[in-house]
This record gives sequence, C-alpha cells and structure tokens, in this order.
Amino acid sequence: MRSVCAMTALLSVCSSTSLRSSAFIPRAPFLSLPFRRDLSCSKLRLARSISTAAAAVKARAGGGRPLMEVRAAQSGEIHVIVGPMFAGKTTALIRRVQAEAATGRTVALIKSDKDNRYGLDSAVTHDGTKMACWALPKLSSFQDKLGTEAYDKVDVIGIDEAQFFDDLYDFCCKAADHDGKIVVVAGLDGDYKRNKFGSVLDIIPLADSVTKLTARCELCGHRAFFTLRKTQETRTEFIGGADVYMPVCRQHYLDGQIVIEATRIVMEVERSTVTHALK
Ligand SMILES: [Zn+2]
Repeated sequence: MRSVCAMTALLSVCSSTSLRSSAFIPRAPFLSLPFRRDLSCSKLRLARSISTAAAAVKARAGGGRPLMEVRAAQSGEIHVIVGPMFAGKTTALIRRVQAEAATGRTVALIKSDKDNRYGLDSAVTHDGTKMACWALPKLSSFQDKLGTEAYDKVDVIGIDEAQFFDDLYDFCCKAADHDGKIVVVAGLDGDYKRNKFGSVLDIIPLADSVTKLTARCELCGHRAFFTLRKTQETRTEFIGGADVYMPVCRQHYLDGQIVIEATRIVMEVERSTVTHALK
C-alpha cells in the first residue's frame, strides 16, 4: 500500500504544462506517435511472464525475491485524487501523468464528454493548464476508440472528472488488475449536497493511494472541503464554473445552506403571491 505522502511527492515531480511527446493523444494515425518501449507489448508480456516464472521458481527454492514481490512487479496501480471544486485535482492529475510520460511511459488522458466547458479535446484546469485528452461517454469505449494494439502500449491512464463515469469501478479493475496499467483518477468525492458523487468513492477499496485535496474558502480563506452551489438548480449533474459553484469551509457551507434555503422560501412566497394576484 503506497502512502499519501508518496503520492504527494509524485504529484509534485513535474510542474511543466507542456504535453510530453509520449502522451497518447487522440489523433490519427496512431503509428505516427512515438513509442518508447523497446519491446512490443506481446513480447514484453512474454518476457515478463518468463522472468516472473523463473523468479518464482528461484523464490520457492529459497533464493531471489519473495513470490509476493514478484507478483506485484507485474500488476498495475490505482491512485485516486478527490476534493471539492477548485482544489487543483485536474492540475495534480496532469502533473502526475506528465511526470510518468517524462520517465518514458506512454500515457493517455480521458475525460467525460459531458464536460465541454473548455472544448472536448483537452483537459483544462481553472488556471489554464491543459493537456490533450479523449472525451468519452463511457470508459469502456476507450479501448475500442484506441484500438487493442494501441491500448496495449499505454502504460498510464489518467481519468479526469471521474464522477461522470458510471463504469469507473469495472474499468479500473480491468485496467489495473488485468491489463497492468497505472490508473490515476481525479474527481469529486461529493456533490453540492455532500452526498457521494458517481462511483468515485467506490474505487477507494481498489486504490494504492488516495489524496484528498482542499481549496480555499471563498468567504474566509480557510481550507475548503466542500462545494457550495450558488444557484437554485437541483440536478446533481449540473456543470458550471465559478458562476455556479464556490469552495467553502465547513462553517460557510452550513451558513450557505441556510441562505440558499431562505432564498428558496422567499422566492416561493413571491411566486405564490404573484399567482394569487393574477387569479
Ligand atoms: Zn469559510
């Protein structure tokens, strides 16, 4: 189990905002993209399984690494970044993915096609950092979109706005457990009502590490753990920016709920008064 500290250190490795050449970006043809491994995926897997089997035999014979360690070397990883809006989740995700690309790994970034605030071809942070990405309706379509050969070559998969993907759990299981990918997931843990949002929390039991980021309360500057919706909209999935949401501390979240509820009551009274007057 990797520690949150280790995750934080990894997140801070690279602050560059440029897209690394090994990033797997959605453009054709695939073969024009750089590929940094020396072995094809099937050859690599064969080499891995041969070396794993040899090491296992060696371990059983009392020499070499323990069997558990040998198994861990060929498995994937899942790292989860959660927090309220404006906490820097996408920034942390992009830094992590770019840091992996800088070590020679082939990376790909996915976001939900529901979030088209900054277009569909890039994941963009609130401060303008961006990285090319695949905008998809569901994660299970990623392998089909990319093609199996290209999918096999991807080492690291970043997922932004993960709360919008219903198939997050199944995708992470397959990608990390079966396909050996490093999966870095960023998303809202809670909605504006502080209920769990989508299935981001469901993958915590699968994760190697979990990082909860905080923002700054817009009203007092203290650490903000929650997202306050400033409008009367009640749909859970309602995409917006600073015009609709703001990060708040616990006290201002509670105060905000009182103000919003009071506003709703006043508006209802006004509406019924107008309706009555028109009759
Ligand atoms: Zn506050």
